[in-house]
Amino acid sequence: VQGGRDRLRIAIQKSGRLADPARALLTSCGLSWRESRDRLFCYGESLPIDLLLVRDDDIPGLIRDGVCDLGVVGRNVLAEQDIALRRDQGASAFREWRSLGFGGCRLSIAIPETWEWSGAAQLAGLRIATSYPAILGDWLREQGVDAGVVELSGSVEIAPKLGQADAICDLVSSGATLAANQLKPTVTLLESEAVLAGPVKPFEDSRAALAELLLRRLDGVLRMRH
Ligand code: ATP
Ligand code: ZN
Repeated sequence: VQGGRDRLRIAIQKSGRLADPARALLTSCGLSWRESRDRLFCYGESLPIDLLLVRDDDIPGLIRDGVCDLGVVGRNVLAEQDIALRRDQGASAFREWRSLGFGGCRLSIAIPETWEWSGAAQLAGLRIATSYPAILGDWLREQGVDAGVVELSGSVEIAPKLGQADAICDLVSSGATLAANQLKPTVTLLESEAVLAGPVKPFEDSRAALAELLLRRLDGVLRMRH
């Protein structure tokens, strides 16, 4: 699939925390769609701006590959994939265009409730479970701390109980999930929220005017929400 030159294609989460607020925000910008039967593609009716409904983790790659022009995704996912891509390819393929004011959470280190937190140096020699190995790896390097990174794709918060790790680096909003697993948050590596992600370079065809129109409306909606 190639991104259309005269239509704009935006990737949003199909289901999950960001799905409804992303759709609602774009609706507030005056967009409307006709949904395909498989409900993976929504054809823009009021403007030539289509939606692709996908897993959030796929959104940065879809932008990099030019399958989608823009995407709504957590800064946490964008930052993780950007670090990994810069390490492998030496350059970024997407960047944050706007922060959107929903989906707020923090990527934090959490340790067993019974431990006293004395700072990053305490993590030396420990195993830390995370789904964000690139962000955690960069942070540990900045701190000059040598710790083991155990990459897990889900259920990170039960890793200490299972003996897979000593501490975790995971997303926290209320802290209830951590507390339920006898963990407590300490230092924060990243303050996250949903963002509009797009390519590093501006569009050079008729998508430029469409993107500009969308951003103008989006900025108006975001201003009114504050
Ligand atoms: P998908 O099926 O699309 O891969 P997912 O399970 O990875 O879904 P969600 O749990 O819906 O994703 O989270 C999507 C995003 O919501 C996260 O990447 C993060 O930016 C944001 N978010 C806000 N609060 C939280 C939280 N407490 N825990 C996890 N993510 C949160
Ligand atoms: Zn995901």
